[in-house]
Amino acid sequence: MSTTSKSSVIPRGVDALKACTQSATYEGIIMPEDLPRLAAAVVSIQREMTGKVRFFRDESNYRMVTGELDVLVAVQCQRCLSALDYELHAEMDLAIVVSEGQLENLPKEFEGWLLDENASADLYEAIEEELLLALPIVSYHEKMDCSAQGQYSTGDFEEPVVEKKNPFAVLGDLKLADKADSSDKESE
Ligand SMILES: [Zn+2]
Repeated sequence: MSTTSKSSVIPRGVDALKACTQSATYEGIIMPEDLPRLAAAVVSIQREMTGKVRFFRDESNYRMVTGELDVLVAVQCQRCLSALDYELHAEMDLAIVVSEGQLENLPKEFEGWLLDENASADLYEAIEEELLLALPIVSYHEKMDCSAQGQYSTGDFEEPVVEKKNPFAVLGDLKLADKADSSDKESE
């Protein structure tokens, strides 16, 4: 099923500016142990991340990096507190800048990725950031799979309705009936 053993590993250190000039594409995997911040944020990373990252210059000559990232993680169900698998998908779309000035001058719709002077980029750090942002805030099993099923009523398990008779209400009814009867008699 898995073909990941044949996949190449996405490099961590990339000469981002050169990569943009060369329109470089990196496709492959990142091992779970290379994503420690993600590992800390989930129950576990179930298998290696697969992704495709593309560097290029856009039509306005901005240096860009885009990517599609996928990784199967286990997260905690907030209902039963046990783990469930979650297909984490993130998309990357960053403009590469090498100074604060460039960062400030980016069009509003762009998200900047500020690199240091030598423009060596830690691609894993940027990828990990995107994956962390894509994590769901809360996760739940499907109702059928959740071991907390039934503990939290969602309306599916209705309490049997016990009809309680209010003795005073019954009394009231009788009184009214009496009155009605007597008034009937009086009017006769
Ligand atoms: Zn659950």
